[in-house]
Amino acid sequence: MILDGRELSKEIKENIKSKVELLEKKPRIDFLYFEDDKSTEVYFNRAKKSAESVGIIGKLHNLSANTSEKDFLTLIEYLNEEKETNGIMIQMPLPNHIDKKKVYETISADKDVDAISNINLGKIFLGEDKLIPCTVKSVLALLEKTKIKIEGANAVVVGRSDIVGKPLAHLLLQKSATVTIAHSKTKNLKEICKQADILCVSIGKAEFITEEYIKEGAVVIDIGINVLSDGSIKGDVKFDEISKFASFITPVPNGVGSVTVAMLLDNLLYLYNLQNNKMPANRRKI
Ligand code: NDP
Repeated sequence: MILDGRELSKEIKENIKSKVELLEKKPRIDFLYFEDDKSTEVYFNRAKKSAESVGIIGKLHNLSANTSEKDFLTLIEYLNEEKETNGIMIQMPLPNHIDKKKVYETISADKDVDAISNINLGKIFLGEDKLIPCTVKSVLALLEKTKIKIEGANAVVVGRSDIVGKPLAHLLLQKSATVTIAHSKTKNLKEICKQADILCVSIGKAEFITEEYIKEGAVVIDIGINVLSDGSIKGDVKFDEISKFASFITPVPNGVGSVTVAMLLDNLLYLYNLQNNKMPANRRKI
């Protein structure tokens, strides 16, 4: 069965819109990206439009490719203190001249809408699931739609990025799946994937996962977004082949990515409420 993300995204956005309508002040999200990253530019422009469709202000910061690390961190520090904004979303991956660890340390946990800060990622690893990276939140919401029992399931996460693979694996573990994290150095990847009741793939390689990697009846979540030279978009999974064997499969486009933006707005609303309760995220009791 195809797990289409568009309907879920619509449901989430309608819910957010009705909540935003009740707020005295419109929430605002700031997007920071470098001018030479065209795919992030497309993504953030789309996210800004979605934000505006539910009454949230989106502000784009299109930075020169020459922006120094110092100036970039200063901008984040400024936005951390800026009362008019409630959330900061940062391009990932960052250009090579920006140390991602410094960014994770600098962004305020209270405005870290994609949960990349040391504090928010740390909380996830300690068992909290209130603020989690938007893509991971999207994957978990789609899994919930399948009604698959995560507890005790064999889950394989292929890809170990800080923002998708690692937090996703930890959250599945928290839900008591037996989790394997695979990456580019993993031996016997096919055999490992074939054990999976739930297979989540985030590697950025078009149609890498073929039918040989799939156990019949598995739930397959394809996170990859790969733009081919002809402009078409493919996931990391060979959809036509695998959809015959999987019990559920997310398409690309119209799968995980469709829900991710809705989850971004959902996270923003969470931060807005947190800020208006005047209690910093890093001091709240879990
Ligand atoms: P990264 O691009 O940062 O890293 C890729 C990961 O895949 C690494 O851990 C790498 O292993 C692993 N990998 C690469 N090749 C192989 C291989 N042949 N076999 C096994 N593992 C491999 O990961 P991201 O999670 O940031 O992005 C991955 C994809 O997801 C991209 O296509 C991106 O566009 C998409 N994406 C989609 C989102 C959405 O909302 N749908 C959001 C974020 C990303 P190693 O660590 O050993 O190098």
